Amino acid sequence: MQEPTIRFPVTCPTCALVSLSEIPIAVIAGALLLEKNIRLHAGCHDQYWTATFIEREQLRNHLSALKVQSRQEASQPESFPGQPESMLAGASF
Ligand SMILES: [Zn+2]
Repeated sequence: MQEPTIRFPVTCPTCALVSLSEIPIAVIAGALLLEKNIRLHAGCHDQYWTATFIEREQLRNHLSALKVQSRQEASQPESFPGQPESMLAGASF
């Protein structure tokens, strides 16, 4: 089974090239929750470094955006509640 990941733009500390890094959601969520370091990787220079405060905040925003999306999808199939007001308005005497 493939682990769910998010793609996150990282800036290489050596050449400042921005590239997309794919990190497992469980790793980010766990590290943010437990205040652990997050290892980021830039493919261009094969560089590993620890996410800065700003990068952690960006990852947090990415995660919360994902959660909002899945919550909206889950709430869609809910049945629409009846509106008695509109029934009354339609009845003319
Ligand atoms: Zn680089």
